[in-house]
Amino acid sequence: MKAFKIVQWGQPGQYVDVPKPEPGPLDVLLRMKAAGLCRSDLDMVDSQPGSAPYANSIDAGYILGHENAGFVEEIGSAITDLRIGEAVVVHHMRHCGNCEYCTDGAEQHCEAFKRNAIAATRGCGIDGGLAEFLLVPLTEVISIGDEDPVLYAPLTDAAVTAYHAVQTALHRLRPGTSAALIGIGGLGTYGVQFVKLLSPARIFAVDNVRSRLRTAEEVGADEAVLFEGDGAAAAAQMLSLTNGRGVDVVVDFVGSADTLKLAAKVSRPRGRVVLVGLEGGTLEVGWGLLATGCEFATSLGSTRQDLREVCQLARSGKLRIDIQRFPFDEVQAAYDALRAGTLTGRAVIVFP
Ligand SMILES: [Zn+2]
Ligand SMILES: [Zn+2]
Repeated sequence: MKAFKIVQWGQPGQYVDVPKPEPGPLDVLLRMKAAGLCRSDLDMVDSQPGSAPYANSIDAGYILGHENAGFVEEIGSAITDLRIGEAVVVHHMRHCGNCEYCTDGAEQHCEAFKRNAIAATRGCGIDGGLAEFLLVPLTEVISIGDEDPVLYAPLTDAAVTAYHAVQTALHRLRPGTSAALIGIGGLGTYGVQFVKLLSPARIFAVDNVRSRLRTAEEVGADEAVLFEGDGAAAAAQMLSLTNGRGVDVVVDFVGSADTLKLAAKVSRPRGRVVLVGLEGGTLEVGWGLLATGCEFATSLGSTRQDLREVCQLARSGKLRIDIQRFPFDEVQAAYDALRAGTLTGRAVIVFP
């Protein structure tokens, strides 16, 4: 079968011919229908040998693609609850199902698969879905019945990662509170929607690109905050809009030194700052640097239950899912468009 692989670190991905995988007793073979492309794919492709966080943690030589959706082609002999031809999405967090994190419903922290900073997950160290077929264990699959897999592909990482981050702070978002979402790209657009759908909080969308702020307003943001320079004006604007009280929950989908500084500046006593973005910025924490009693946490990935819930929201028609379709033989063009920032939604590779 045809597949798009990272063959060597520091080299562009390429099409290769590999054997069609065969399912073991608890595996599912999917005929791929849709694979969303993610900025982290570019970070992997750009990794020089030995560099952090990918090339020093995982081995090259795997098929890219971690936002996968398709149709059940074959099932292992021990599987009884899936039918051939059913549409499914794949939760890309590979996990053992048995360690203390997995049994506690936090499989993204699975002990068995975590090496250094980055665990080998679907499309990141182990074969992903940029191929005609994808083999996954039953425990990574969620059925979407007869829904269209193409729209669901970007939910499996972009949306569900944002959903998980918002979920960790949802209990703080009561009437009269506010939430700031920093970075309105692939994840942040969903972040705004989830806060809107699941809480009564007033929503501040923060970005340095005006068109993204307009998108944020379309999907439910109450206030658009333009991030310019080091973010001092954005901080002043949010403090003014909250009568100096600050923001209850900040989710930073960028993670630069400047965005983290902004998050700390607008933080509110007993609030929560959640870091999702991987830009590598750091935040100094101490008395006077973060509001008193304010928590700071990174939010890694998501759980399969998160994905199930996101799919339910999509099924009820409550999510706006913007995608731009590319055929499987134009993966490189799609990555180029992603890199150039010319996409009008998530790039999704659609298989014939
Ligand atoms: Zn991703
Ligand atoms: Zn585990």
